[in-house]
Amino acid sequence: MAFFSFFKRSKEEEQKTLDQGLDKSKQSLLSRIGHAIAGKTTIDDDVLDNLEEALIASDVGVETTLQIIERLQARVKRDKYVGTDELNRIMVDEICQMLDENAGGKDPETDEAAIQKPYVVMVVGVNGVGKTTTIGKLAWQYKQAGKSVYLGAADTFRAAAIEQLCIWGERVGVPVVKQQQGSDPASVAYDTLQSAKANNADVVLIDTAGRLHNKVNLMNELTKIKQVMKKVVPDAPHEVLLVLDGSTGQNAFEQARQFAAATQITSLAVTKLDGTAKGGVVIGISNEMKVPVRYIGLGEKMEDLQHFQREPFVRSILGMD
Ligand code: GDP
Ligand code: GDP
Ligand code: MG
Repeated sequence: MAFFSFFKRSKEEEQKTLDQGLDKSKQSLLSRIGHAIAGKTTIDDDVLDNLEEALIASDVGVETTLQIIERLQARVKRDKYVGTDELNRIMVDEICQMLDENAGGKDPETDEAAIQKPYVVMVVGVNGVGKTTTIGKLAWQYKQAGKSVYLGAADTFRAAAIEQLCIWGERVGVPVVKQQQGSDPASVAYDTLQSAKANNADVVLIDTAGRLHNKVNLMNELTKIKQVMKKVVPDAPHEVLLVLDGSTGQNAFEQARQFAAATQITSLAVTKLDGTAKGGVVIGISNEMKVPVRYIGLGEKMEDLQHFQREPFVRSILGMD
């Protein structure tokens, strides 16, 4: 049995959240694909050219788009004749295979050997991307799964950030370790791990401040937090989760690259996929980053965070129920 269970909700409920959240991205992608194949019955070079444009316009990213087109080309060559009515089904196939080949990293959801207690997740990302909200949602999921959770308010830069985490802590019913605004984030992380360890907690989620405009400062701060945590739990953090705002499309991609260069990232969360047509970016990020997309944010409610699974995602965004 997996350590963390994200499947407390029924499959139907999960599917509905996914489909509703990705609806705008789907509408936009399907309409672009519709234009790409207009008046065509078979997938030929023209169709593939149009499709290339459609995928790039849908924020899939140039490199990943080219890989998808190459796969489709090979597929058409192999199968001799492929009708445009089969395009979406074939795209689901090829994109899932492509993502599978690049999958990597341990997943606490499926890999029990990856789990130590307390399991320490440090959450990083630029201001406003949804770090604190994602932490609140994760805390809720873990709590639902019967795990004891500690939150650390190591974004000490603004008082409101600490307050916001405390509100989530109350809502979910998990303790939040905090200090005054302006205190040393590493010191907060240290305290959090001490409390978590003393209370035999399962999971620790550490909120941090992310300010890319000051890269050296940020990098130093994250490095310091990591070092200090190791004094309490030697192999902490077990995860460095980078949160990205999916509604910023290619910007999210660029942030992922910049953060990965500044500090070691082990997993990704892409938020705010509801209300944006740029959901295709998850396919590009998932394909090109060396670390896995682990969670997707599909709304502001507690249950709107999902464990990312490539097949349901790709099927949903391509409208293949
Ligand atoms: P932080 O600065 O990175 O900690 O970001 P916050 O957690 O404070 O989130 C910034 C805003 O984004 C808040 O208003 C959240 O409610 C909102 N938000 C976060 N995740 C999602 C999501 O998946 N969908 C939507 N619609 N809003 C989100
Ligand atoms: P600037 O805007 O880049 O010049 O930095 P500020 O003047 O806003 O920084 C004010 C104080 O906040 C300084 O003591 C910095 O060390 C500290 N600081 C800067 N960036 C961060 C950050 O990302 N997190 C935290 N916790 N403190 C920071
Ligand atoms: Mg925050």
